[in-house]
Amino acid sequence: MIFKMNILNNIESIRKEFPILNTTVNGNKLIYLDNAATSQTPNCVIESISSYYKNLNSNIHRGVHTLSQIATEKYEDTRKKFSNHFNARSSSEIIFTSGTTHSINLVSSGFTNFLDDKDEIIVSQLEHHSNIVPWQMLCEKTGAKMKVIPMNDKGELDLNAFSNLLSDKTKIVFVNHVSNALGTVNNIQEIIEKSHQVGAAVLIDGAQAVPHFKVDVRKLDVDFYVCSAHKFCGPTGVGILYGKKEWLEKLPAYQGGGEMIDEVTFEKTTYSELPNKFEAGTPNIAGVIASGIALDYINTIGLENIKEYEDYLLNYATEKLLEIDGMKIYGESKNKTSVISFNIGSIHPYDIGSLIDNLGIAVRTGHHCAQPIMDFFKIPGTIRISFCFYNTTEEIDTLINALKKASTMLS
Ligand SMILES: *Cc1c(COP(=O)(O)O)cnc(C)c1O
Repeated sequence: MIFKMNILNNIESIRKEFPILNTTVNGNKLIYLDNAATSQTPNCVIESISSYYKNLNSNIHRGVHTLSQIATEKYEDTRKKFSNHFNARSSSEIIFTSGTTHSINLVSSGFTNFLDDKDEIIVSQLEHHSNIVPWQMLCEKTGAKMKVIPMNDKGELDLNAFSNLLSDKTKIVFVNHVSNALGTVNNIQEIIEKSHQVGAAVLIDGAQAVPHFKVDVRKLDVDFYVCSAHKFCGPTGVGILYGKKEWLEKLPAYQGGGEMIDEVTFEKTTYSELPNKFEAGTPNIAGVIASGIALDYINTIGLENIKEYEDYLLNYATEKLLEIDGMKIYGESKNKTSVISFNIGSIHPYDIGSLIDNLGIAVRTGHHCAQPIMDFFKIPGTIRISFCFYNTTEEIDTLINALKKASTMLS
């Protein structure tokens, strides 16, 4: 049982909740610093999945039998949990998908109905490919044009340039809340307000925000907000799409199938009400319920505590990294999450990544699904470390020593 706590004083008991942190990789104790790609899973989430299949497995929304009713209740209670967490107006504004990518595709494909070749849509230079490619497909289908908000050398978006891109032709703006490659926290409140002034809708990709701080969709007045459970200690294969009711009602259904219909004849099908309209077929029931358990877990530790502790790790690691000869950190916004992207001299990131993997240290190397950012800095990629609240300063010390050794060997 975890209570609201100061993380530093309780780090050992928190780490015990994550069995994988006790494993070895290549003969060394795992040091997992790739949390922006996926976070690790605590016992309560693992147990929720296993208990579902041991005790409850059944299909939801259909059966009159007891198991189906209990499973449906748990699934719908989870929707309420997310609705409360994000401060949505109603739980019918929460749609379960398979992830951020699926959520974005659901919205972008729906916008095909609303756009033509005179319209414009706006993305930022800081995006993950999954918030670029679906919109390019939309442009190909409709002839709409995509404009790009530029960024500066620190990896921050230029919001004056953004104002100049906006016009009454702009139909939707899609930007991440936090960059997965650099950790920059974007001023989405300003982006949302300015977009609404010209009547454009806004989709925020919150995959890297939800694990680190509280998000209030009503206060933001955002139209769509999306994230993935596996980035906040939940299982893979579950995404959450928040959409304002007006928008979700206007958007066409994305996939056809069971569960999303009201009445089907061969002449015509009428669709069910929200949220079922967007949840065709049997969903990832065990995964959704376990995602609710993951949400409870991070809320019990406390998002304020998490932010405070991760900031502490970020500052500690940044300072130590800068002691390494040839260190260049990309992404120097004052407002950033616990992500550090860097290179050492001209050593290829992949070479360092493989060497330290031999020591059991997991980091990400490459373009981090964000090639436009790498193009901006004119580099093929970076080494990226990203922290979760179970990481420690001791792990950072081990990383720093490993990086020093690797860079001596490779230069
Ligand atoms: C991880 C990530 C995605 C993609 O999430 P999936 O779970 O792979 O669909 C999109 N955007 C950002 C910012 C991310 O970090």
